[in-house]
Amino acid sequence: MTDSALVFVPGIHFLPSVALRLLVPVILATALLTATGGCAGKAEFDGAEALKHVERQCAFGPRVPGTKAHDACRDWFVAELKKICDTVQVQHFEYQLNVSPAEWRSKLRLPARFTAPPSTKLPMDNIIAVIKGTDGKDPSLLLCAHWDSRPTADLERRAENRVKAIAGANDGASGVAVLLELARVFKAKRPTQGVIIVLFDGEDYGPDTKDMFIGSKYYAKNPLPVKPKEGILLDMVGDADLEITRESWSVDANRALCDTVFKTAEGLGYSRQFRNQIGIMIEDDHLPLIRAGIPTINLIDFTYPYWHTLADTPDKCSAASLSAVGETVAAVVYARSSNP
Ligand SMILES: [Zn+2]
Repeated sequence: MTDSALVFVPGIHFLPSVALRLLVPVILATALLTATGGCAGKAEFDGAEALKHVERQCAFGPRVPGTKAHDACRDWFVAELKKICDTVQVQHFEYQLNVSPAEWRSKLRLPARFTAPPSTKLPMDNIIAVIKGTDGKDPSLLLCAHWDSRPTADLERRAENRVKAIAGANDGASGVAVLLELARVFKAKRPTQGVIIVLFDGEDYGPDTKDMFIGSKYYAKNPLPVKPKEGILLDMVGDADLEITRESWSVDANRALCDTVFKTAEGLGYSRQFRNQIGIMIEDDHLPLIRAGIPTINLIDFTYPYWHTLADTPDKCSAASLSAVGETVAAVVYARSSNP
């Protein structure tokens, strides 16, 4: 599927500039998720803490590559992950933007009086952390999310607002928040098989897919510290009205992992948040990974009404939704036996 294969989402209408993003065993680990009491060391997912992680990220301001807020948030991630992970590294690289000024104005539906930003080189940072399992082997499962936020609010009605960066509470911060809390859970009670956690930069730069998925494309070509065998991507998992379906490319790439996740969610009582039905195809960070031989599924709720608007703020997210996703992914990880 190419960028030109645009969109065809029954019942959902998207403007062309944003439509580019749309192309079209159950072992419950609840017994393993034993609460040990206390707070810092408890081995259960804390949705309230995850929601605080959403708020903390947004408090830096929009995490747009090339800005101070972006770099400050990166440094905070690294410091936090170093407290709870076995290894943490920053995969730094530079990226040359492709969009022309005319394209930029066209995609954002802006009059000529709006000056396009220069198509410059941007510094990018993927953040890679490892939590080893009790089996002592290299982890094979990648857990990932994008940490940047979009420099433009494409779906705002007023042109003046479309050129403003979004807070990205759900679109960016929610997936990372779940991963930060999962890292704490896995440190408190190590799973048999470890995990590689990667926070991708530059997923949402835009204005179209030519300059998106930048960090995941780079990581797919340069996986560290070892190439994962499969992965789970979390994107827009914090909406208070959470509704995740089986994203079609994910099912094609890794049906078994998709089945495991949705059956685990059902077993935990999260059938409302995880609808076991085929959803639309969504171009996202999982595609570069799939194409590089890391079959990755995308857990995403694309019914979020505040997508790419200035209203994508922490108050739209809920601890309960973050818990539904966090507990499900934790149960899937704890149920994995030793890495062969
Ligand atoms: Zn986005």
